[in-house]
Amino acid sequence: MSVAGLPPYDDANIFARILRGEIPCKRVHEDAHALAFHDINPQAPVHVLVIPKGRYVSVADFAANGTDAEVAGFWRAVAKVAKDLGLEAGGYRVLTNMGEDGGQEVPHFHVHIFGGRRIGRMVPRAEG
Ligand code: AMP
Repeated sequence: MSVAGLPPYDDANIFARILRGEIPCKRVHEDAHALAFHDINPQAPVHVLVIPKGRYVSVADFAANGTDAEVAGFWRAVAKVAKDLGLEAGGYRVLTNMGEDGGQEVPHFHVHIFGGRRIGRMVPRAEG
C-alpha cells in the first residue's frame, strides 16, 4: 500500500537487502519483529539503527499498516537495544526521518538510536 509522500515499498532498498542477508551488517539484536545494527556512518559514539522486519516505507506506513504485534514488538526492541547497549543511565536519543522534509534516505522504516555523548540540540537551527 502506498503512503502519501513516499513511493510504494521497494524490495531493492538497502535495508531489505540486509534483512535478506544479501548485504552484511554489524548486528546488535534480532528478534521476530526487529533487527538492530550499527549505522555505517555513525554520528555519535553509539549510532544504531532499528528496523522492523515487515515491508514498511516509513513511520506513517508502519503506524497505519503494521499489526499491533509488530508495532509493540518493534518499540520494545528499540528500548531493549538502547538498554543492552548501556545507554539507559546516561540517556540517548531516538529519531526517525520521514519523507523529503525529514531527510529520509532509505525507504524502509527505521529509527536511529544515538548515545555515548551529549547529543545536543533537538533540531539544528535553520540555515539562512
Ligand atoms: P535516513 O536518512 O534516516 O534514511 O538514514 C539512513 C541511514 O542509513 C544513514 O544514517 C546511513 O548512514 C545508514 N546506512 C546506509 N546504508 C547502510 C548500511 N549498509 N549499513 C548500515 N547503515 C547504513
